[in-house]
Amino acid sequence: LPRLYSGMQPSADSLHLGNYIGALLQWKELQSTHDAFFSVVDLHAITVQQDPAELREKTRRTAAQYIAAGIDPSASTLYVQSHVPAHAQLAWVLNTITGFGEASRMTQFKDKSQKQGADATSVGLFAYPVLMAADILLYDTTVVPVGDDQRQHVELTRDLAERFNSRFGETFVVPQAMILKESARIYDLQNPESKMSKSAESGSGIIWMLDEPDVTRKKIMRAVTDTDGVVSFDREGKPGISNLLSIYSALTGRSIESIELEYEGKGYGDFKKGLVEVVVGEFTPVRQRALDLLADPGELDRILAVNAERASEVAEATLAKAYERVGFLRKA
Ligand code: ATP
Ligand code: MG
Repeated sequence: LPRLYSGMQPSADSLHLGNYIGALLQWKELQSTHDAFFSVVDLHAITVQQDPAELREKTRRTAAQYIAAGIDPSASTLYVQSHVPAHAQLAWVLNTITGFGEASRMTQFKDKSQKQGADATSVGLFAYPVLMAADILLYDTTVVPVGDDQRQHVELTRDLAERFNSRFGETFVVPQAMILKESARIYDLQNPESKMSKSAESGSGIIWMLDEPDVTRKKIMRAVTDTDGVVSFDREGKPGISNLLSIYSALTGRSIESIELEYEGKGYGDFKKGLVEVVVGEFTPVRQRALDLLADPGELDRILAVNAERASEVAEATLAKAYERVGFLRKA
C-alpha cells in the first residue's frame, strides 16, 4: 500500500469543522487504501508559545478526536510526534541543506511572523517547514494529503529530498502533495474571507468539534451572510452563504446545486436551521466518542505508545540511512 503521512497541531482543546472536513474526513477515506501515518505534531505546536500543562492536555484531546472521527489506531499509525525522536534529529540534518532565503520565502512564516513581530518570532517557527519535511521523509511517504495552505511546504519537502539525494545519494522517496479540493476549505463563520483556524483571535466564527450542540446552533444561526436573501453559491459576492453551502455539501455528500434547489424561495433562517441539523447530527456521536476516550486517559496513552513504537521502527531506519549518508560515525 502507498505510504501516507499527515498531521495536525495540538494547538487547541478542540479541532474545528475545517480540520474535520479538510483533513479528518479525507484521512478516514484514505486509511483503507494507504499505509497511513497520522501524527499529533506537538513539536510543531511549540513554535508558538504554549502553556505546558495545556499542551499535554491538548495533545491527548487531539489524538482522541482523530480516533473519534474515525481514524482506526490499529489500521493506521496514530502517534504523538515527540514520542519519535527521529523527527527532531532528521530536521536538524535537513536544516543544514535548507537555504536561509528559501525558508524566508515560506508564506505561512511571513504571515505568522508579521503578526507577531520579529522579536516574538522564534527560530523554531522559521524552521517549521523543515521539520515538516523531516516528518514526511522519515516514512518514505508518497502521498501527503493537506489543505491548500500547506502546498508550499510540501514543495519544499520535495526540493529538500531531491537535493539530499543528489548530494549524498538516493535516500529519500520524493513525496507528492495530495491537495484537497478547494471546496474542502472552510472559512470562519464571522469572517468568511479568512480560513477557519485553531489560532484565530476570536472563536465566535469557529465551529469546534467538541462544542455543545446548543453552542453550535447559535454560531450557525449568527453566521455572517448578506442582504440578498437567495441561497446560492458565489464565493466572491456571497462568501458567507457560499461557505455554509460548502459545509452542508461536504457533510451530506450532496451537490451544491441540489441544496440550492431545496432552499429555493426560502430564507437564510430556514437554510441555517437545516445546516444546524446536519452539523449537530454529524458531531454529536463524534463528540461522545471523544469524551468517552478522554474519560480513560491511561488507555488512550497506551494506544499512543503502541503506535509510537510502530512509527519509530520505520523512522529509525530512515534516520540511520540519512546519518550514514552524511558521514556520521556509527556508534560502535
Ligand atoms: P493553526 O491555526 O494552529 O495553524 P489550523 O486550524 O490551521 O491550526 P493545522 O493543525 O495547522 O490547523 O492543520 C491541520 C489540517 O487541517 C491541515 O491538513 C490543514 O490543511 C487542515 N485545515 C486547517 N484549517 C482548515 C480549513 N479552514 N479548511 C480546511 N482544512 C483546514
Ligand atoms: Mg495551520
